Amino acid sequence: MELRRKGVGYLRRSSNRQLQNHSLDIQRSQILRCADRNAFEITDWFIDDAVSAYRKPALKRDAMRALLSTVLDQDEVCGVFFYDESRISRQMSDFVLEVFNPIKERKPQCEFFNATTGTLWDPKEPVVQAQLLMAQNDSAMKSTRALDAQTMLLCDPRGPRRPGAPAPYGYRWADGALVPSETASLALFIFHIASWGYSDAQIASMLTQAGVPSPKSGDWGASTIDVMLNNPVYCGDIAWNRRKGYSNSSRKSVGQYDLFQGQVDAIVPRPLWDIVHELRTVKKETGMKFNTPNLLQGLACCKKCGDGLQVKDSTPARSPKRYVHYVCPSCGQKVETTKLDEVVLDQIGREWPGHFNAFKNEARNTLLRWKKELVDVQRQAKAELEEARYQRATLSPSAPHAEQWQKIISLRETVATEKLQSAISLLEKVAVLEQPVTFDAWIQRLLEPDWVSLLGSTERRTFGFFIIQRVEVEFTAVTKVSICFRLSPFVTLQESIGRLTEFSADTVGEKPKEPQGA
Ligand SMILES: [Zn+2]
Repeated sequence: MELRRKGVGYLRRSSNRQLQNHSLDIQRSQILRCADRNAFEITDWFIDDAVSAYRKPALKRDAMRALLSTVLDQDEVCGVFFYDESRISRQMSDFVLEVFNPIKERKPQCEFFNATTGTLWDPKEPVVQAQLLMAQNDSAMKSTRALDAQTMLLCDPRGPRRPGAPAPYGYRWADGALVPSETASLALFIFHIASWGYSDAQIASMLTQAGVPSPKSGDWGASTIDVMLNNPVYCGDIAWNRRKGYSNSSRKSVGQYDLFQGQVDAIVPRPLWDIVHELRTVKKETGMKFNTPNLLQGLACCKKCGDGLQVKDSTPARSPKRYVHYVCPSCGQKVETTKLDEVVLDQIGREWPGHFNAFKNEARNTLLRWKKELVDVQRQAKAELEEARYQRATLSPSAPHAEQWQKIISLRETVATEKLQSAISLLEKVAVLEQPVTFDAWIQRLLEPDWVSLLGSTERRTFGFFIIQRVEVEFTAVTKVSICFRLSPFVTLQESIGRLTEFSADTVGEKPKEPQGA
């Protein structure tokens, strides 16, 4: 006979008396089906009233409290089944904090199931988080909407008034100003998962799957997410002059339009916005993908040849097993992606916790070093600019080749001005990252002691990108790897500064001779 694990079911009575029994039957049969598919038998049922599930925190509810103590006290119970998120709590955090976490802490092997979807339920899953946020918002929305409608009707003597533009998702209009609305937490959530590498399309389908209503009703689209993630209003700034022109309605990219800062209550902290845009810049400039199961795509190289390993998928059609390899383009040696990923994950798991503090110090020292280098570049560019201006002032129009000299001097002025502007804007970025709040926001998220088991493949890949500079692979009998960790997670800044300082070093020596013949 098949051995079945023991689990408990949680039900909620409907507030509609006529539907009451019917609803309980549906919930119960759904849970039994889900339990059966996962080889569980339900040994206990817990039933709460409809009203209390909305109003009372999880542990103020009798059945929920009884469920908690049953699961904690009875060793053999290792499964909790419920009908859907709205049955367990209308408050996002209390069920997780007061029921889920304590159970997982004492009994890590205990599993939670959502009987509606028939899947394992884990609040660390982005889809589940979106569902929880929505369950929390649902009840808040009902009361806010009623209040809004009344305010509109009662307070405006000219009758209900509609603001011209629709408010960005997460905001609403109040007396002509934008204020965070009941969906603000979902807007923040969208930035949060974007900062862990999820693509616009992934986020859109996740929200649709979680049943979150989109701003325009219907399914979420990737373009809606793109527009949101590029809208500086979420940091409290109003963008001005964003369209490229009257006839061109496409938008200018971040940094190219004017901002009125601090006009609106921010929903997204600035460091989170910066991390999201760091990843978007990397994707755009390098074509690197984060929503891939291949942890080391673009990060691994052949130790012998020094070439970057390429991903080759040679799975035959209709083959149930996948054959995907990291291949060295020079020597042709290869290793299965899943195998190498596993070796590297294992090694990071062992090396990273011990390396983290060094990484943090190194990141801080790197910022100091960059500051010094940039101040040097700034000084040098200023001197070059002054020199060029002096040459222009002293160049006689009657000097031989005066016209060519004019052109050379103008070019030098342009180059020095560009260099000076880049140095100043990069110095501003370094200054922002040096602030402890910003620095910690970038660094602390990379201290995840149990990251291998906690993160999904996209998140893991994003995490790997921020900490790994390169993985050298040695194709011996047993594949050996050495991981070279990054000096700091500020990847695109490092590249911009590298380009600028290299470029300045190139142009230093070459000075045109003083024009003669005044
Ligand atoms: Zn090779």
